Amino acid sequence: MAESHPSENHRLLVSTRNAHKVGEIRAILGPEFTVSDLSILPGMGEVEETGVTFEENATLKAVAASGRFDDWVIADDSGLAVDALGGAPGVHSARYSGAGATDAANKALLLKNLAGVRGKDRSARFWCLIVLARAGRKLAAFSGTVEGIIVPVAKGEGGFGYDSLFLPDGHCETFGQLPAAVKNQLSHRARALEKLRDWRGWW
Ligand code: IMP
Repeated sequence: MAESHPSENHRLLVSTRNAHKVGEIRAILGPEFTVSDLSILPGMGEVEETGVTFEENATLKAVAASGRFDDWVIADDSGLAVDALGGAPGVHSARYSGAGATDAANKALLLKNLAGVRGKDRSARFWCLIVLARAGRKLAAFSGTVEGIIVPVAKGEGGFGYDSLFLPDGHCETFGQLPAAVKNQLSHRARALEKLRDWRGWW
């Protein structure tokens, strides 16, 4: 990846108030990008995620913020798709257990809905869809996935969301147990951001 760095520093606004997401994005992109989040646009209200796909929702968030910021904007829409649940919670991952959902309530509901499902039948993947926008216009979209299984009992305190339930293929610790630097090498977000770094438009 070292060869694919943009040649100059880019100012990038991430259209989110999720501190965990921004922290991961900043760590993954490294010093070639100066990353800020919506805390620099206090007047901007919540963008309603009315899309039915990750890309639609990422586009809504990126385009809305790019009308108010005079540089590059990205939005990350992401979530967990569990095969035994027909792809749920999917785009509803953040609010799986209803309005005002917490990570703990979402994870408890997921475990309840997977009761009786065993072993490889608990297969799942995280999706990340990054949309790049500028001046109110969508420029490109980049996706990343990581495959794994949902463990029956939460393990680890690291990360956020469903991390403590997700065991990535080829590893024996969940995203909640693995060091952040390891998650940030193999995650859905890392894979989508790698494509963003390689985007031709930077040069
Ligand atoms: P969004 O803000 O609408 O994209 O919601 C994404 C939701 O998906 C989060 O609130 C988490 O529940 C889940 N999610 C996305 N990425 C991750 C991750 O890297 N780890 C754990 N959960 C994630």
